[in-house]
Amino acid sequence: MKKPERITIKKVFDVRFKGEPSPECRVLPVSPRIGVSLANLPSIKPKLVVAESDTVVQGQALFYDKTNPHVYVHAPVSGTVHRLVYGPRRQLQCIEIATNSALPPLAFERLLTPPTSAADTKSALLERGLWAYWRQLPFNTIPRPQDTPPAIVVQLANPEPFHPRLSAVLPRVANDITAGLRILQTLCPTIIVVADANESINLDDWSDMAQVVRVDADFNHCSPGAAIYHLKDSDTYNHAWYCDWQFLVKIAQTFATGVYANQSYITLSGYSDTADAHYQVTDGMDLTTVAPPIAKRMVWGGLFSGIAAAESFFLPVGIDAVSWVDTTETVSLMPFLALGAAKPSFTRAYLGHFLKPFTPPSTALGGSYRDCVSCGHCETVCPVHLMPQSLLRQVNADDTDTAIRYGLLDCTQCGVCTYVCPAKIDLSAQFTATKDRLYNEVNA
Ligand code: SF4
Ligand code: SF4
Repeated sequence: MKKPERITIKKVFDVRFKGEPSPECRVLPVSPRIGVSLANLPSIKPKLVVAESDTVVQGQALFYDKTNPHVYVHAPVSGTVHRLVYGPRRQLQCIEIATNSALPPLAFERLLTPPTSAADTKSALLERGLWAYWRQLPFNTIPRPQDTPPAIVVQLANPEPFHPRLSAVLPRVANDITAGLRILQTLCPTIIVVADANESINLDDWSDMAQVVRVDADFNHCSPGAAIYHLKDSDTYNHAWYCDWQFLVKIAQTFATGVYANQSYITLSGYSDTADAHYQVTDGMDLTTVAPPIAKRMVWGGLFSGIAAAESFFLPVGIDAVSWVDTTETVSLMPFLALGAAKPSFTRAYLGHFLKPFTPPSTALGGSYRDCVSCGHCETVCPVHLMPQSLLRQVNADDTDTAIRYGLLDCTQCGVCTYVCPAKIDLSAQFTATKDRLYNEVNA
């Protein structure tokens, strides 16, 4: 693994949106009902171990992954299983629990020092229902417990617009991050901590436990996949595991207290000036208790890489950002007179390219789909130096072998190529779908 302390890449994609969450971190009480939603666990094939009306306690197993039978997802709160929600083909989508704080949580053994071996750490994580927070490159799936990670990437920063900033909550979680890193050290000698060079955080405490790399570039260079792409000196690292700082906090607190840690830090954005902020919430919280539905599209996760929320308002497992995006198509009168001054634009055809206006995020395409015009913008912004327009041709031709040779598996699914494409081609979604299909074929 290369050992730079800093990765600096000239920024070419400088977007600015209105609605940035305030750094103030508010603590929300547990909602009367919470939901364990699988919206962000696409690779899991769930097998329930509870039924409707069952009483469950915080930390008790709810279901396991049939393809990874040691991986369980546990209840974040105590209460009664109110409803099991199924989607198409009777796929489990959500387990709703009516909370009952009078029921004590499940008590695990307290681990005041890190386990002494990788096997012990894995068993402790599996027993406490924490494994499902891991992800593995290149398919962003949950790794198999029997495997050994070639490296672990810890994301201390996700500078994608509207994501939580570690600096907003650092005093509350710094010790837990240190304890979490000590636990990870038992799993793998190569730990890489990726931080945003533009965020003011003292990383000295962690530099003797991990390789700390500050990234000074567009936001999409801070993802685990992009960091590995810049740092790897061997293809072994293509299968690195990764997690974010919230996972370190969760494992440190669960190990130390013996109680399943059910608190996470999230941001709400694009909702209203008063609501857009950082929040400490209970996992699976009912968002309608803080942000009742409005006439905007809700997005789970980042503005560029997130997923459109369907009917459910329960915070899905592993989601730390919730954004509301305007869906109205506004038609302005004689727009050519404004020369696109208020329009965020990657292309120099509009004044917005130079003025960098703050605009509310919107789903408006500002035009319809066209064929690729070979402008090369997608290539310019790609953090892993792919040629998305060429890759798309292979994907459309169903030539997966050539697509892999063109770097399909390096694609971090950052969504930026889609955003800059003047032909409105949803490149990122097509690469994601092809990777998902490939993963399912390989693991059928
Ligand atoms: S191809 Fe697109 S989605 Fe994939 S890494 Fe490059 S810019 Fe991001
Ligand atoms: S940005 Fe869109 S139009 Fe331009 S080369 Fe890429 S795919 Fe083609």
